[in-house]
Formats: sequence, C-alpha cells, structure tokens
Amino acid sequence: MTVIASTPHPTAAAVPPLAARTGKVGGSPVRDILAVTARPEVINFAGGLPAPELFDRDGIAAAFRDVLAETPAQALQYSTTEGEPSLRAGLAARLSQRGLVTGADDLLVTTGSQQGLSLLATALLDPGDTVLVEDPCYLAALQVFGLAGARIVAVPGDADGVDPQALEELIARERPKLFYTVPTFQNPTGRTLPAARRAAVAQVAARAGVWIVEDDPYGELRYEGERVPWIASYPGAEDRAVLLGSFSKVMAPGVRLGWLRAPAALRRACAVAKQAADLHTSTVNQLAAARCLTTLDAHLARVRDVYRERRDAMLAGLPAALPDGSAWQRPEGGMFLWVRLPASYDTTALLPKVVRQDVAYVPGAPFYAGEPDPSTLRLCFVTQTPEEIGEGLRRLGEGLRS
Ligand code: PMP
Repeated sequence: MTVIASTPHPTAAAVPPLAARTGKVGGSPVRDILAVTARPEVINFAGGLPAPELFDRDGIAAAFRDVLAETPAQALQYSTTEGEPSLRAGLAARLSQRGLVTGADDLLVTTGSQQGLSLLATALLDPGDTVLVEDPCYLAALQVFGLAGARIVAVPGDADGVDPQALEELIARERPKLFYTVPTFQNPTGRTLPAARRAAVAQVAARAGVWIVEDDPYGELRYEGERVPWIASYPGAEDRAVLLGSFSKVMAPGVRLGWLRAPAALRRACAVAKQAADLHTSTVNQLAAARCLTTLDAHLARVRDVYRERRDAMLAGLPAALPDGSAWQRPEGGMFLWVRLPASYDTTALLPKVVRQDVAYVPGAPFYAGEPDPSTLRLCFVTQTPEEIGEGLRRLGEGLRS
C-alpha cells in the first residue's frame, strides 16, 4: 500500500505560494452560516434554498429515464460547448414568447448561471478593470469579480433599485467595463427595477458605452403584479446587454444548468472560456431539462402558489418579531426579504445569539461593495412551511430581544 506522507520531506524546499487573488477573496459568509446551522432543529432563513418538497421528482426522474432509454449514446457522450440544440431551442422559444426575440444560436448553455458570471469575467475583465454593481449586491458575483482582479464600485440606489443618473455619472467617472445587476426580485433585497428605470439604464449604457450584465434567476417566481421586460429588450441594449438565466430556482439547483444570451463576439469569447473551464455542461442533464421545459409552466404555477403563501406568512409574522423602528419591503416575487433593524443593531454581532435560539439569517454587511449598513439582514422565505416560518420568526424575536 502506498502511504502519502502529510509532513514534508526534511530537505524539501517550500512550494510556491497560492495566487495573490486567493488571498484577496474570502469564502462565502452564506455558506459559512449554512455550515454552522446545519443542525436539523435550526429553522434556517439564511440559505437561498428552493423548497425540496416541491421539486418535480417524478417529472425529472421520467425525463432522465426516457433520455437514457431513448438516446443513451447521445446522452452519455461528450457534447458541444454551446449546448444541446434541443435545450437551446426550447429556451430561445421561451425568451421569444416573453418578448425578447432570441434564436437558439444566441444562447450558450452554462453549468449554472454562476458559471455564466465566471465566463463573462474571463471574457471581459483584465486585472484592474472596474465593475459597477448594485449596493447591496449578490455575494458570489462579488467573489467572481474579485477573483478576476476587478475594482468593484457600488452604484447608489433606493427602494426601487439602481438610480440611472448615478449610474451615468459613475460610468463617466470610473470608466467601467460592465454594470452587473439583478433587476428582478434582487438577491439580497427582493427589489424590482421599474420599467422606466430599465429603459433609462439601457439608454445610459448606449450613450456611455458599457456592458450590462443582467442576471435573472428569480424572474419566473412572480407572486403578484405585472412582469417587467428585461433590460436587454429596451432600445440601446441590443448590442451590449448580456442576460443570464438559471434552472436552479424554477426546476432544481442540483442539475447545475443555466444559460447566457449575449451578442455574438462576446458569446464566442465566453464559449472559449467555457472550453477551458469544463468543455461543456452535462449532456444528460441538458437533454432531461429540455424535456422538462414542456411541463415547466404547470410546475411553476404550483411553486408560485406555495411560495406566495410563504412570503405572506413571513410578512404577517415580521411586525411581532422585529423591534420597533424596523423596516422591510414587500417583494412581489423571488425568495428574499430584506430587513433594516433600528440603527443601534448590528446583525453580524447578533447572529450567534440568534442562532442559539435555533434560527438563522444572513447579516447584510457582506453584500455591500460600498459602505455596509450593519443593521440589515436577509431572510429567505421559500424553504419552510408557513407554520415553520411563524415559529422561526418567534425565535428570531427572542434572539433579537436577548
Ligand atoms: N445569480 C444570483 C443573483 C443568484 O442568487 C444565484 C444563486 N443564489 C446565482 C446567480 C447562481 O445560481 P446558479 O449557478 O445555481 O444558476
């Protein structure tokens, strides 16, 4: 048997250090909290986990079974980097139906939309380039841009999202390569950018010259109100908007499937980056997902009904749980609720006390690329039943009072 020694050979020279970028970007605080709160008794509002009991187990199992029975040689073989034609065609049809005319060739299938962000960083960013983001911003996007060596600058906004005029001023001053945004049911705030601001963002991008990266994993989870068109569909955005989509929140995150819609030259550069990253996304998963697209709308209708009830349960329980002077927004969809406690509260310092009550949230501070607001926190409202949400909020109230 070969034994691999864990202590270095006495005459061994030190190995070269890790790349400098690894020292500048830390692990995800959300994943750290999930590790500490993995005990089954914890009611965990920290993760962004879709409700597992709603996964379409039978439909997904049947899709995999049929794909493997009918086209095993294709399903188990290497595939093209761009993605399986049946999946790209199905996705393009969905986008076109929703008013964004798209052909299968406009899309690159990715291993989750997270990979789309990495590919874009590789294709667009040199170390030292500037990226504009919302404040607060999706955490793992900050990780991607940080690992690419980008300088990250926060764009001011308000309860409706980013302020297009502030965006224009920052583009003029900072000369960024791209502006990254989650305009619909944002992670972490749940905010949705109104149509007029989307039109303005597209115009600003056209005038000032910047890529827009529009990340939309939550748009299909709307519980009330009217759909707002993608920024990519407004005049000015045609040749400079990238749209990222994901199966994670509408089907299942474990299949690791997403997609990217981008103008041709950028899409080709992303495809080269993807060849280097993983050659292509799982063939069998793509073929199964393509079959599931036919029943996705019926599935989504069921998921929306359940999630709407859970959002309402959380909204109903918050006034009794949170201290006087707290503020929160009512999200029209998505998975998250963003809370601001009175200014004397520090949600990072309070978390250990709250976790002792067997409930968890994510402190808001790590989401900020600019000045953090330590009194903020993010709650995910889709993972638990209304009863569990009520109990979790009762515990949260105890933890915050203790
Ligand atoms: N973008 C945003 C805004 C997200 O919230 C997430 C997942 N939490 C992702 C991208 C990544 O999703 P996935 O890779 O599972 O598609």
